[in-house]
Amino acid sequence: MSSIFTKIIQREIPADIVYEDDLCLAFRDIAPKAPTHILVIPKKEIVSLADLTDEDETIVGRCIMAVHKVAAAEGLNGGYRLICNCGDDGGQEVPHLHFHVMGGRQMKWPPG
Ligand code: C5P
Repeated sequence: MSSIFTKIIQREIPADIVYEDDLCLAFRDIAPKAPTHILVIPKKEIVSLADLTDEDETIVGRCIMAVHKVAAAEGLNGGYRLICNCGDDGGQEVPHLHFHVMGGRQMKWPPG
């Protein structure tokens, strides 16, 4: 199922892209919930964590490495939060797997 994130990958709608490689893309969230709020997504159309198959292992690993690189590039040296909302109960709105990298302020626990 295609989503708005496929349009971002294909440059059909604009986004503030901060990282890209052959498997992943990272861009600034359009409605940031923290001073730094970046989404890391696979280029492959994977709906959510619940839809992963064994063949996606390399893609997911690369996304996490992209998180690491983006956080370093953003100077999040004091730490940051990584969130992946999965499905309706997880609060996922866009049906394309994405990792929220949030930092630049003190995070609270537990999330709502
Ligand atoms: O995890 P969830 O699906 O709720 O998060 C989707 C995120 O995608 C939201 O934080 C929203 O602001 C972001 N978004 C975006 N650019 C769009 C559409 C949604 O950054 N064009």
